[in-house]
Formats: sequence, C-alpha cells, structure tokens
Amino acid sequence: MQKPSFPAFDLIESYGHEQIVYCSNKELGLKAIIGIHNTTLGPALGGTRMWNYANDEEALVDVLRLSRGMTYKAAVAGLNLGGGKAVIIGDSRTQKSEALFRAFGRFVEGLSGRYITAEDVGTSIRDMEYIMMETRHVTGVPIEVGGSGDPSPVTAYGTYVGIKACVNEVFGTDSLKDKKVIIQGAGGNVGKHLCKYLYEEGAILFINDLFEDKLKPIVEKYKATIIKDDEVFTTEADVLSPAALGGIINDETIPKLRVKIVAGAANNQLDDEEKHGKMLKDKGILYAPDYVINAGGLINVYNELEGYNRERALKKASEIYDILKRVIEISKKENIPTEAASKKIAEERINAVSHAKRIRIYRDVNLFKLRNQ
Ligand code: NAD
Repeated sequence: MQKPSFPAFDLIESYGHEQIVYCSNKELGLKAIIGIHNTTLGPALGGTRMWNYANDEEALVDVLRLSRGMTYKAAVAGLNLGGGKAVIIGDSRTQKSEALFRAFGRFVEGLSGRYITAEDVGTSIRDMEYIMMETRHVTGVPIEVGGSGDPSPVTAYGTYVGIKACVNEVFGTDSLKDKKVIIQGAGGNVGKHLCKYLYEEGAILFINDLFEDKLKPIVEKYKATIIKDDEVFTTEADVLSPAALGGIINDETIPKLRVKIVAGAANNQLDDEEKHGKMLKDKGILYAPDYVINAGGLINVYNELEGYNRERALKKASEIYDILKRVIEISKKENIPTEAASKKIAEERINAVSHAKRIRIYRDVNLFKLRNQ
C-alpha cells in the first residue's frame, strides 16, 4: 500500500472539518472528494466543482477551503445550513458522463442528507439532473422539475441591496442616483442583472468584461461606458463591484484603487483575506465581505428546500442590507476589518445554536431501549 505523501489529518484538523469523504470508481474515472465542514446549523450545502487539479492534495485543499467558506456564508445569512462542498477531479470539457454524475449522486445519497449538492464551476444544471436520478439531496435543479433554476438574478439583487447598505454607510443615503459604479465581469450572469438594478436607480455605470461583445447590450440599454482591463482598478468612482474573478484585491491593485467602496458578487475577492481586508480598511475603503453580499445564490437554493418561491427568495435576499449594516457596525466598534467582523458573527451564531441543540428532544421514546441502555 502506498504511504500518503502529505499529512491529510493535520490539514483536515487545521480547517476544523467534521468529515471528508473520498469517492472513487475506477471504471467510470470518478475521483471526488466531499468536504463537510460543520453541520451545527443544518445539512452541509455547497456546490460540486469539476476541475483538473494538478494533484490530490490541491483538490483536498480546495474542498477544505471552499466548504469552510460555505459554513460562514450560511451562518451569516441566517440560514439553517452547514458548510459543505465537493470537488470532482477531471476535465469538465472531456470527462463528463451521465454515469459519472450518477455514481457521484449515489455517494451523496449514502450521506443521508448530511451533504446537499448543487452546481458550481465546471458543473451544469444537466449534471445536477443526472445526480438527481440517484439522490434527493441536490439543489439548483431546473424550475420544471421543482427546482429554483438560475440563481444569478437573486445573487444580483442581494448584491444590489448590499451596495445600498455600503452607500448608506459612506454617504448617509440609500440612493444610488449619480453614484459611479465600476462592474468587472458586467457581461456575466450576475453582472448583467446587477447593471439593470443599478441603472434603474440612476447609477452611472463603468463596465468591463473579458469578452467585449457581451457588453454591447448593456451599453445600449443602460447607457454604460466600457472601460479597459487596467482601468477597472484605476478609475475614480464611488463603488467597485467585482463580478468576475477571485483574487483581484491584492498587493498590486489596492494602492491603485480610487473608490470608496468595494462591494461585488465575485467569490474570494481578497487574495489574502486577513492582509488585504486590513489594507482596504487602512486605506479607508469600505469592503463588503464577498460571502456576505453574494449570499443571494445560496438563499435561492435554500428556498428550494422549502418549496421554491422567487418572491420569498428575493425577500430573504433583501435582508443582506441589514446583515451588512451589522457587519459594518461591529467592524467600527471593534476596529477590525469587515471580513473579520462577519466571521465573528458567523462563529457566534454557530456557537450559540450549538448550545441550544444540546437540549435533547426525544420524540419517540422507546422505554425498552432506554431501560436497556
Ligand atoms: P459568469 O461566468 O456568468 O460571468 C463572469 C463574467 O466575467 C463573464 O462575462 C466573463 O467573461 C467575465 N470575466 C472573466 N474573466 C474576466 C476578467 N479577467 N476580466 C473581466 N471580466 C472577466 O459567472 P457569474 O455566475 O455571473 O458569477 C460571477 C461571479 O460571482 C463569480 O465569481 C461567481 O463565483 C460569483 N457568484 C455567482 C453566483 C451566482 O448566482 N451566479 C453566486 C455567488 C457568487
């Protein structure tokens, strides 16, 4: 037997996970890892990412990082969900098959609801339909089969109300009229819906996307101005709203920024959470932690578990306004970056609920079993 080449348990413990599940099927080429970080608040929900990882350790680290992030995201959003995520090691363009996803679905089913999956980078609604053939524990499926469909409009709405909360903090008004907003990735699913909300409130839009042809309709409909890639970080504006990539707030970009607020939907915006959260604070830029402001997508799939209703999902996403206000308040009171403040809120909620859950409820008391324990 081959000796493990890296200390897996040390790594798992350092992230504080409950359970890591390795799923393998040689015939189908399935290599997947499911990460269940914390189930205090509810079942661990998070998408399945399909990615060509360089090695197994890289895949494990990614699932650990992503699933822990989901714990914080759900906890701050006030959802009764834990944090989970899965990765399938492979090329999403060439290695997908019905059987691969059905096999993965059976592993998910084997966890009896401790983990609920959804779409993520490299997986699609079609793949979720295959998973659904084997397990009920899948969300983000099409509306026609009782699902919530595309989460992007709800994510964009949550981001829009989050921007308003930040604008209120900095300018003392909720109004976005004449506020200049830069949107990176404006041509994407979240970006284009966000542009609509902002424009309808009178904001002035500066937009950028890797594919400029995606921007044409936004220029026409919302009178937006296209800016070049390097201008995303140098243009003077009120808000920078990243809606494309992670890691874009870093040592190189922070010194160039000429905005008062960074508030956008993109995941993992800070290259180094602690360092760059502090750098933004020191520069007097208000940062809306990404997993707080972009929780609309998770809120949308959570809603699916209760029987999907778009109005209810949007109403819940509107709570992101008050949640962000609370994050900002704690950040100011304790003189800590907003990123640290939102983690604190998440950890406090998980700890508090864990105390409540220690109170046991015995629904079907079996006296025979009790006497013989
Ligand atoms: P998407 O792929 O539809 O859109 C991303 C857009 O960014 C695309 O138009 C792409 O061309 C553009 N882009 C890529 N690289 C770029 C670059 N270097 N510079 C400028 N533009 C670039 O994705 P999406 O679903 O709109 O998600 C956007 C971001 O929000 C991602 O980080 C995603 O993880 C995050 N997010 C999305 C949701 C959701 O509901 N879709 C929920 C939570 C978080």
